[in-house]
Amino acid sequence: MSDFDIVIVGGGIAGASLGAELADARTTLIIEAEEHCGYHSTGRSAAFWLESYGGHTVAQLTAASRDFLQAPPPAFADRGFLCTRGALHLSREGWAELPHGVGSRRVEGAELERLLPGIRESWRHAVLEPGCADIDVAALHAAYLKRFRQLGGTVATDSRLRAGSWSGDRWTATLENGAAVSAPVLVNAAGAWADSVAEACGVPPLGIAPKRRTMVQLRVGRSGLRDLPLVDDSDGTFYFKGETDRSIWLSPHDEIATDPCDAAPEEIDVATAIDRFEQVVDWPIERVERTWAGLRSFAPDRLPVYGFDSRAPGFFWCAGQGGFGIQTAPAAAALAASVLTGERPDDFIAHIDPAVFSPARFA
Ligand SMILES: Cc1cc2nc3c(=O)[nH]c(=O)nc-3n(C[C@H](O)[C@H](O)[C@H](O)COP(=O)(O)OP(=O)(O)OC[C@H]3O[C@@H](n4cnc5c(N)ncnc54)[C@H](O)[C@@H]3O)c2cc1C
Repeated sequence: MSDFDIVIVGGGIAGASLGAELADARTTLIIEAEEHCGYHSTGRSAAFWLESYGGHTVAQLTAASRDFLQAPPPAFADRGFLCTRGALHLSREGWAELPHGVGSRRVEGAELERLLPGIRESWRHAVLEPGCADIDVAALHAAYLKRFRQLGGTVATDSRLRAGSWSGDRWTATLENGAAVSAPVLVNAAGAWADSVAEACGVPPLGIAPKRRTMVQLRVGRSGLRDLPLVDDSDGTFYFKGETDRSIWLSPHDEIATDPCDAAPEEIDVATAIDRFEQVVDWPIERVERTWAGLRSFAPDRLPVYGFDSRAPGFFWCAGQGGFGIQTAPAAAALAASVLTGERPDDFIAHIDPAVFSPARFA
């Protein structure tokens, strides 16, 4: 059996980013069930940074992450991960309301038609959020894993935790491949499987609920779309953004409760996405180029969970990242690491109260 200071279950963005914060001072192992680490939610996102998303508390984590994503330290990456495109929040009546402090301005009439040519008449108002950006998710995730390894961390893929048990002062994790590893701290960064992993360790679940979201890459009879803003509506029924010159990424903003699984899109959700899209712009639809789905996992109050479980020694939750796990990763990882180690938080997150994210709030 191999011994570590910390074993992290899950090698998505949550496990990789937290691992990169911890590996410098502690021997850390990431165990990942799949053949490669970004196979589930992290590899299926819509890849945007949108400060207004998720409400005020999540917006704090998103805003605090921006500088790192824009201009990471040279030891981490030699270029940034963001590419600004802006977002247009449409409404038929009234104006979308954004969390306090998020830069935005109202747009209507000719300016709205210029930003979104072919927009149908029923959409009269929009709030422009200029700071919205694309995130190069694959590069960010790879950079976290690279940094983790550089600092001495170990990644074991094809290593699904089957059961965990606490004895003396350590967790022993038994893997499906027959191996066993041990550490005084076990981090649950298993995304949609967070509750299942807790149960496999004899820890009561928190109610982390996976919800399926569908994405469609649509080829349309209109060009010049690559830099189109992210477009959504204030009722939360769709969003789309430019992908190539003549194609977009589109979602029906679905949120379908499911068991944790290798999520796949359903035809009805693809059809719903296209139907809603046709009500926004008059662009002819040429074909569906690609579809996929992924799971966004939410705690009951839709805030992420970072902290030790008061009912199980050494069991640390890093879960419930919902639809914001990429854009919040730098701040979330730094915050979770300071809670885990008990060390002073970095300056860029010092204003964020970690107690808000503690699993103790569900006690
Ligand atoms: C369609 C879609 C669009 C999204 N758009 C955005 C966006 O624009 N911006 C944004 O910030 N976020 C977005 N998100 C959310 C973001 O993708 C997630 O919040 C984030 O990827 C969650 O990361 P994670 O590491 O917790 O989960 P995952 O990436 O799913 O990683 C968890 C890992 O744990 C592993 N695991 C599970 N059980 C075990 C076990 N027993 N043993 C070992 N390993 C295990 C899994 O194999 C998996 O690789 C989107 C999500 C979806 C689905």
